[in-house]
Amino acid sequence: MSGYANRLIHAVFPVLCVFCGVHHTGGPVCKQCSAALPWIGIICEHCGQSLPATQPVGVVCAACQAKPPAFAKARAPCTYNFPLDSALKALKFKRQLCYVPALAGMLLPVLEQDFSDCDALVPVPLHRTRHALRGFNQATELCRPLRRATGLPMLRQVYRHRATRSQAGLTATERNRNVRNAFAVKGNVLCRYPLIIDDVITTGATCAQLANALLNAGAEKVGVLTVARVQAD
Ligand SMILES: [Zn+2]
Ligand SMILES: [Zn+2]
Repeated sequence: MSGYANRLIHAVFPVLCVFCGVHHTGGPVCKQCSAALPWIGIICEHCGQSLPATQPVGVVCAACQAKPPAFAKARAPCTYNFPLDSALKALKFKRQLCYVPALAGMLLPVLEQDFSDCDALVPVPLHRTRHALRGFNQATELCRPLRRATGLPMLRQVYRHRATRSQAGLTATERNRNVRNAFAVKGNVLCRYPLIIDDVITTGATCAQLANALLNAGAEKVGVLTVARVQAD
């Protein structure tokens, strides 16, 4: 179904809001719940980390000035706070795929505005052992509606060739070490500007490693788009 037809159906037929369960028209999230989502405010122009509201638009954070990340820019529409944190956990660990249309609906406007020149989508791959245990990859599920809406191809030649520990509970340095050389790209990529898609970005270590693998495989630059951003302490 085209994006237009999809939007038309959502505008006419009432659906249940995934956050509050109330019938409404206009998309998978009702107006009240949408207004209450933890939308991100002022961000670093490069890494997308949320910054104090006193900072001007377009500023680059101190960390990016000292050591620019391998990706060209990272964006997330929201911070990793209630109720999105619960929704993302339910998607990832309880396979609540009912959240996918709402989450993809939050990614699409950012994709269209900030990454209109991207030419491929790259879901962050899981190692095959974790993929087998979980049964699905939440990043791939988020990519599917984006692919349908934009017509962008999904790059499937990226692998996680080392079974990395879960990043949860690790410090920034440990996260970097944990994901170093974790990804491999089969052959050269034929796209110029691939866009990495994932559910959450924390320190950006995983996305930076994947960006490096894509750059080494021939990409000119790499973007990162996630639903939520964990705020730095
Ligand atoms: Zn609602
Ligand atoms: Zn930054």
